[in-house]
Amino acid sequence: MALHTVLVINSGSSSIKYQLVDPDSGQALASGLVERIGEEMGAITHKHDEAKTVIEAPVPDHRAGLAKVLELFESEGPSLAEANIAAVGHRVVQGGRYFDGPALVDEAVENRVEALIPLGPLHNGPALAGIRVARQLLPDVPHVVVFDTAFFQGLPEASARYALNREVADKYEIRRYGAHGTSHQYVSSTVSQLLGRDDLKQIVLHLGNGASASAVVCGRAVDTSMGLTPLEGLVMGTRTGDIDPAAVFHLARVAGMDAQELDHLFNRESGMKGLCGDNDMREVWKRIDAGDTQAREAMDIYIHRLLKYVGSYTAVMGGLDALTFTAGIGENDAAIRAELCARLGWLGVELDEQANNQRSPEPRVVSTPDSKVKVLVVPTNEELAIARQAMSLV
Ligand code: ADP
Repeated sequence: MALHTVLVINSGSSSIKYQLVDPDSGQALASGLVERIGEEMGAITHKHDEAKTVIEAPVPDHRAGLAKVLELFESEGPSLAEANIAAVGHRVVQGGRYFDGPALVDEAVENRVEALIPLGPLHNGPALAGIRVARQLLPDVPHVVVFDTAFFQGLPEASARYALNREVADKYEIRRYGAHGTSHQYVSSTVSQLLGRDDLKQIVLHLGNGASASAVVCGRAVDTSMGLTPLEGLVMGTRTGDIDPAAVFHLARVAGMDAQELDHLFNRESGMKGLCGDNDMREVWKRIDAGDTQAREAMDIYIHRLLKYVGSYTAVMGGLDALTFTAGIGENDAAIRAELCARLGWLGVELDEQANNQRSPEPRVVSTPDSKVKVLVVPTNEELAIARQAMSLV
């Protein structure tokens, strides 16, 4: 029996992901997903022990979805009361300049999250809906918000400020906020623990469908690749990452695209998908192995961008002790790790081929004992990180 548990909630525009976590052991006692909220037919999947319950039914809104989830906890288990629920942790993407750590939700915090909707239109609105509904349905438990941007709130001004006209930038709060911060913080602190050093110069590559890099010195982020929004930086599944912003003006002029079309093109129809038609790296590799040149070129662009970030962050930090891969691609794609590391030999990176090819759910070192830079694979666990941050406030 867990001493206490945290219900971690991640509300998207048409979905709610949740996990009941024991913050001490790190174990997930239950997890699930509400999908297609607001559509004609929705679905709720609830997993507990070995059992999986799937309900197909319309889910008109977040309230209906979460109410159903709470019913499932009671009917399928584990009962939240018996699991000693101590807090609800909400993932929120955009904390703007206001949050450098988790915050206990009250009226003022809700209002702040609402005021930040223009800076995170895809994420903060649904997150706020989730918070409001959850507070009504679970009024006796403290609710905590954990921001994706918080770890990057302390970025040096030289890295956080764009060279955009100061007046405009300040008036519209345009600066680099970063994202995936919960993951970068969790992974970089795991690396410090694993290597027994808190003075490391680290680069963390969070490579999932969304992808970001961070430079971390002595546990503090000094640079990160995502910016005002998660569009900037690395090549992603469907996002361009870095691109000359003049491409936007140009397409507006010559192709007559409006802001919404451009947003869709850059965020949803670009990246690996836009380059070669596939954004699942497993498919991309299959095509490369079959001799597909477009897939190979997309991979070259992906790796070239990674290489540029590792090089520039090493320069920013004046050295590199540890390079860590995490998230779906980072944790599973040994070939990308191998190709990137092969091109970092000049930096003293030496991958242990056997260790790199070994699959494991555990954090691990995959470089040789002689490698000047330690290379690691650390599975990220944002739910656990959110649960632990929530517990730190209650
Ligand atoms: P997100 O949370 O950003 O949606 P994930 O971190 O779950 O993404 O990563 C999803 C991506 O991981 C998939 O799109 C796929 O490209 C990649 N991926 C998952 N498993 C593997 C694998 N075995 N080999 C290579 N890539 C993988």
